[in-house]
Parts: sequence; C-alpha cells; structure tokens
Amino acid sequence: MTNFTKNFTWAILTLIAISLVFSFFVQPTAKPEKLTLSQVAEKMTAGEVKKISIEGDKFNIVLQDGRKAESEKESGVDATVTLRNLGVSEENMRKADYSVKAASGWDMWGGVLISTLLPILLIGLMFWFMFRQAKSGANQAFSFGRSNIRLSLGGKQKVTFEDVAGLKEAKEELKEIVEFLRSPKKFFDIGARIPKGVLLAGLPGTGKTLLARAVAGESNVPFFSVSASEFVEMFVGVGASRIRDAFATARKAAPSILFIDEIDAVGRQRGAGMGGGNDEREQTLNQILVELDGFEQGTRVIVLAATNRPDVLDPALLRPGRFDRRVVLDLPDINEREAILKVHARGKILDKNIDFRKIATRTPGFSGADLSNLMNEGAIFAARNNKRSVGQSDILESVEKVLLGPERRTLAISPKEKEVTAYHEGGHALVAAGLKDFDPIHKISIISRGFAGGYTMKLPNEERRLRTKTQFINEIAMSLGGFIAEKLTFGDVTTGASSDLKQASEIARKLVTKYGMSDLGPTTFGSNEEMVFLGRELGHERNYSEKIAAQIDDEVAKIVERAYNVADKILKQNKKALKKIADVLIEKEVLEQEEFYALLKPFEIKPLVA
Ligand code: ADP
Ligand code: MG
Ligand code: ZN
Repeated sequence: MTNFTKNFTWAILTLIAISLVFSFFVQPTAKPEKLTLSQVAEKMTAGEVKKISIEGDKFNIVLQDGRKAESEKESGVDATVTLRNLGVSEENMRKADYSVKAASGWDMWGGVLISTLLPILLIGLMFWFMFRQAKSGANQAFSFGRSNIRLSLGGKQKVTFEDVAGLKEAKEELKEIVEFLRSPKKFFDIGARIPKGVLLAGLPGTGKTLLARAVAGESNVPFFSVSASEFVEMFVGVGASRIRDAFATARKAAPSILFIDEIDAVGRQRGAGMGGGNDEREQTLNQILVELDGFEQGTRVIVLAATNRPDVLDPALLRPGRFDRRVVLDLPDINEREAILKVHARGKILDKNIDFRKIATRTPGFSGADLSNLMNEGAIFAARNNKRSVGQSDILESVEKVLLGPERRTLAISPKEKEVTAYHEGGHALVAAGLKDFDPIHKISIISRGFAGGYTMKLPNEERRLRTKTQFINEIAMSLGGFIAEKLTFGDVTTGASSDLKQASEIARKLVTKYGMSDLGPTTFGSNEEMVFLGRELGHERNYSEKIAAQIDDEVAKIVERAYNVADKILKQNKKALKKIADVLIEKEVLEQEEFYALLKPFEIKPLVA
C-alpha cells in the first residue's frame, strides 16, 4: 500500500469514528413543529397556544402541552394584522401571551444584504486578488528599469581617509570635493565652477573603490554607489533608464555624491572593437553624458567614477564639464607600501620586531590589494602553525607564496634534478652579482613553488620609474643565466629554462618595437590601437612592412646575443663560484641575501658592464 492510500484510509476511519461518537453524545433536540399561519390562527382560536412571540417574520410558539412550534409570515406584513385577518380575536391573542419583538435591523436586512451583497463582495475580492497579482508583476517589470542604487550611511564599517595609506594627491583632490559639498558658499563666492565629475583611474587593487568609500565616510552628505556593470542588460534601454534613475535619486538628495564603479563597463569608446558598438551600451553611455550635462549649475551632485582602463573610455566622457578631473592612482612606491602594510596590520596580533620596511622592499609591484592579501596570508600562515602572533618570517614566506604559489616540499625530486635546479638558480644569481650596477639578490631557493622549480629573488635598491637600456640588457642577461649555467655544467639544457627564455625575448622585442632602443632608431612599431573582443586584446595591428619585420627580428636577436655573451662570460670566468653556490644550495635549499654575498666574497668577482 502506498503511503497516500494508507493515510487516506486512516483519515476516513477517524472521521467515521468521530461522527459516531458525536451522534452518540449529541441527542437530537426535539425539532419544533412547523405550522402554517392558518394552523397557528386555528390553534390560537382553540386556545391551544400558551405563548407566542414574534421576532421579525418568525413566530416562536409554545403550545399548552409544552411542545414547541414555529411559523413564518411573509415579510413586510404586520403580524398582528395578519393574525386578525385570519380570524384570531383580540381575546385569544391576549390569552396566547402574544408578544412582538421588534425585528432587529440585521434580521430585517441581513437576508437581503447577504443574498445581494455577498456575491458582489466575492466577485470584488476575486478582482482584488487578480489586480494585486497583476500589480506585483507589473511592479517587477517596472523595477527592471530602476537602478540598484545603494545609499552608503557610514555605520560601523565606516572607512575614512585614515584607512587609505599613500595616494596623497588623490586624497587631496577628493578632500577638496568633500569640502565643496560641506561649504559650497566659499567656492561660489569667489566664482569658482563646481567640478562635476572626478574619474579615479588606476590598476586593479590600487584602492579606487576604497577611496570612494572613504569619501563616503568623510563627507556628511548622502553617498550613492552603483556599479556600471549593473547597467549592462540584455534589453536595450534598460541601462539608460537605470542611469536616469540613479541620477534622479542622487539629485533628489542633493548635495550628494554619486559613485559609479567600473565605469568602463559602459563607458567604452563607442563604435570601437568587435564586441563593441552594441546599441545598449551606447544608449547607456549617451544617457550618462546627458545626465552629466543635465546638472544645472548649482546642483550639488558630484559624480565619482572609477576605472582600470581610462584608455578605453569614450573621449566624450572625459571632456571638460563631464569627468573633467582625473585622479591617477599609481601602484604604491616603497614608502606607500610600508604605510599600507601598517594599515593592514591593524587588528592583527604581530610580533614587536616586524620590519615593515623590509617587507615593503620585497614587494615591488604589489598593489594595495596584494598587500592587504599578503598580511592576511601571513596571519593565516602563523595561525596554521599554531603561533600566537604573526612574525616577520610568516609574512616574508607569504610574499613568495603570493608571488609564486605555495611551496611544494613533498614533491619528489630526484637528486639529479635538484642538482640541475641548483646550478640553474645559481646561474641566475651569479650573473646578477657579476653585472655592474645591477639589483642585489635577496634570496635563492630551490624548493619547488607553484610551477617554478626554484627561484632567485632580485629586487631593486630603489624605486624606479624610468629604466635604461643597460638595465634591460642586464635583465635579459640574468634571465639567460640559468640556461647558460645548465649548458656549461651539464653540456645539455632542460625545459626548466623555458619561461626565462620567453621573458628574455619579450623584453628584447619591447626594446626594439616600443622603446626605440635598437639600431632601427627611435621609432615604434605596431600600433596599440586595440581590438576589443570579450574585453581582451585580440592582437595588435601591424603597421610596418615585411622588410621591417625581418629587421625587427634581427635586432631582437642581436640584443639577446649581446646579453647572452655577457652572461656567458660571467659564468665562464667564475665557474668555481657557481659550483660553490650550487653545492650550498643542494645542501641548504635556501640562501638568504647575506649568506649569498658572504659565499661570493672569496671569489672576488669583477663586475662586467653589459
Ligand atoms: P580597486 O582599485 O580595484 O577598486 P579596491 O579599492 O577595491 O581596489 O582595493 C582593494 C583592497 O586593497 C582594499 O579593500 C584595501 O584593503 C586594499 N587597499 C588598496 N589600496 C589601499 C591603500 N592605499 N591603503 C590601504 N589599503 C588599500
Ligand atoms: Mg574597485
Ligand atoms: Zn630560471
């Protein structure tokens, strides 16, 4: 038997049982006899009625023998008159203890009302439900065009400029904006025009969103934020209407700030690229332009926008009067990295002796987001090792983890491979040490990490924005160092050098085509006019002839050869030093900066100029 039939049978049986019990206990009360009006009149005349009371149209009668009876008259007719007409004398009426209870309004009208109003009511109710359903559906359809705008109210997780390390200029610029919103009079009085839009441009993780949140925290005005990617919908016009809504909301709350994150999602150059030129995005962008222009002078709404790709933005967005202020957020320099690390050290239990400077030195090219992640990884690493506080070594270890992936100590490596790796990494390090004015080596390791069999960490002494040709060639020479060391030592090479070679040729090619640092002269080759497809660069246009292409290849080969020769020379001149480094590496697996340079001391390496 299925569950259902079982339950069903039980339900039926229970019902039967209950009704049996009921019929047993509840005795049917003697039903009053139904009488016609003439019968009532007859009985009254005959004196058989003990009591008669009239309620509305109903006659409740008690007969002389105690039996009850009832009767009914037609409504709207007087009971007394009716009975009199039926021949009941006044005398008999009195005898019958005749009484009339005024029919209550409900009794009078109830029947009428129920019979007429109830159906109407039911139908009405049905309509109401139908309408309600339809309305909620319609609402959904309407809210489709509404922006998902969020009002930031500070609260517990309020971010202030304190939480943003470095980024001095950006902060200055934004402080001005906040100040303007707080006391606009000062600016108006002197005749200054209000900035309308500020564009925060910078690589991912440099703190654009963070900075915007800090503005929200600092300004005492409503701060609305939306992400432009929310404007991208399948249906044409939806994005535009969401923009309209977002601006309208901000304007209603003026003075206020409207933050549009990732504006490149809609602000890409119109009509550009293969995936581009779609109507929806164009309409959305147009709407942004319209809204930016639409602010009347004096509307105190300032639009902040953030993007990683200011280069792909439509020029119309950037013209004065729209996003006329551009704030560029650079990757942090060493001082800023130190400051950012300190910001993210808050709330973590750290050893007292942590050298933030040293960590900052080891993390060139890290963005704020990377550094924040690094501190967290360090804390996780410490916790996993059951430490009570985070130490310097935990964080330094995490630097390598973030850069190269986790250590793979358990990976089975044959002694031969270990030897090859030791010579390879030793080669990189030795070439670096043998180049004049080159960056110092900070660490060498032959513990496998992520995809790398080992690694040599070289870091610049100081932050550099500009780089020279010599530096590039040194860089290439060092990259080739591993390959050459393997070749010199074992007379053979392995696949371990493939990414080094790739890096070397990429640098060499850039020297020729991008920086004009070859004999082809100060020209660039290949335009960076990008073709956008699914947000990625598909390729770049070749704006030079086959002949030039061949010359470029020659130049690249020449540069690589020059670097190769330098590296080769260094390694050949210092074979003993290379062997020493490799031997120590095989034994200890890791060499720190000081150990490495101490090892080299006895060999008195003479630096070469590339
Ligand atoms: P994006 O520029 O991609 O919007 P975010 O602002 O989202 O980057 O930054 C990501 C995280 O990186 C922030 O939440 C913050 O923890 C950290 N961060 C980035 N820059 C800084 C900075 N200058 N100071 C402190 N933390 C920063
Ligand atoms: Mg962001
Ligand atoms: Zn290598």
